[in-house]
Amino acid sequence: MKVLKFGGTSVGSPERMKRLLDIIDPAQRQIVVLSAVSGTTNSLVQIGQAYLTGDKNKAAALISELKNQYNIFIKELFTKQEFLEQGKEIIDYHFGLLSNFSNDLFTSIEEKIILAQGELLSTTLYYVYLKEIGVPSVLLPALDFMKIDEDNEPIVDYITAHITPLLNKYPDNNLFITQGYICRNSFGEVDNLRRGGSDYTASLIGAGIRSDEVQIWTDIDGMHNNDPRIVKGTQPIAQLSFDEAAELAYFGAKILHPQSVFPAQKYKIPVRLLNTMDPKAQGTLITNTSEKDKIKSIAAKDGITAIKIQSSRMLLAHGFLRRVFEVFERYKTSIDMITTSEVAVSLTIDDTTHLDDITAALLAFGTLDIDREQTIICVVGDFGAEKHGYAARVLEAIKHIPIRMISYGGSDHNMSLLIQTTDKVEILRSLHNRLF
Ligand code: ADP
Ligand code: ASP
Ligand code: MG
Repeated sequence: MKVLKFGGTSVGSPERMKRLLDIIDPAQRQIVVLSAVSGTTNSLVQIGQAYLTGDKNKAAALISELKNQYNIFIKELFTKQEFLEQGKEIIDYHFGLLSNFSNDLFTSIEEKIILAQGELLSTTLYYVYLKEIGVPSVLLPALDFMKIDEDNEPIVDYITAHITPLLNKYPDNNLFITQGYICRNSFGEVDNLRRGGSDYTASLIGAGIRSDEVQIWTDIDGMHNNDPRIVKGTQPIAQLSFDEAAELAYFGAKILHPQSVFPAQKYKIPVRLLNTMDPKAQGTLITNTSEKDKIKSIAAKDGITAIKIQSSRMLLAHGFLRRVFEVFERYKTSIDMITTSEVAVSLTIDDTTHLDDITAALLAFGTLDIDREQTIICVVGDFGAEKHGYAARVLEAIKHIPIRMISYGGSDHNMSLLIQTTDKVEILRSLHNRLF
């Protein structure tokens, strides 16, 4: 059984929603994961923020604007009055819920309920559309099987245990529709898998049902060899290993949610990145194997803070790094990059929630330099230790740009550079011109 995920632009208009049946074959048993209509989650974020800041009027205005868009959407989606009425009821229900929150009782719990409405709307409307055109399908509520634990980690065994009986209930049904992104947390509350999380949903369902293949349908023909939003003339990559795809996703290739590769990798499920606007295009196949001895792609991750700890006590001191790492562990902050010398260690973080506490604790070890607005540039490919020349090619291409940190050799397929964000565009273009 395959899992097909369609992103926001792929369901972004009534026309696009209707065209999904060019890709979905209702004769095959499969699970279709849908994102919210593009722009909806951004609006829901704003609505949540308005409530959080106590601005109920702003929330009401944003809700009414979004509701109008959906009222127009359903007029184009449905042809028959009976189904248009059903569409109206769905919209009234979800927008009624959005309007009924009050400022006094608004916490992150209510905010997450708001964020969940986008995927609930898109899947329910699509389900009713399929009914109108006579294509049988079953709507699977993701909140009944998608779950994260107290560390926000998804629980694949739970997904398997809860989705299997749902699927078994409908042995004669082929098409199952479900929501991306949304889940329940360890308290049973409505939660989500972070922005872009529908990819993660698809991969988790794929793992949960030991699917034959997970297909991520989006608005571009696969993973490109550089960020197409910044660099002209980028090319799709036909094949990537799970490790390469995970590095690219984590270090900024927006086409994939950062964690979405891991469940598929663990259960060896091939992942295909495909283009809804050009379904015949080859796209990218992510499996255990990949082309050897090659630089494949470049990605960039902004919003990085670098911390340098300079300490004379580091000299000959065993246990120093452990004590440094313990500070980050205490504040649940993960480290992306690290470089060391005999007298200093530099590392980077992207979550600065606890930066003040971390800084205070690190001052016990020596002097600190903190640099904000940094970017990690990640060059991904197959360059094992016995291969040579890759680092030289990368550094030659960017010799005119100051580099804050370099990390190479952590794995066989990644070289990372830390630079100032203001140099990002130049470095991405320069690497592209020299490497590809
Ligand atoms: P969806 O809504 O379908 O999930 P996203 O917007 O999350 O789509 O991801 C697709 C977008 O990712 C593309 O339109 C493209 O602009 C962007 N992107 C960034 N880096 C890359 C890359 N290396 N290869 C392909 N797309 C990329
Ligand atoms: N709708 C969610 C978002 O915009 C999840 C997704 O599209 O993957 O982040
Ligand atoms: Mg996405």
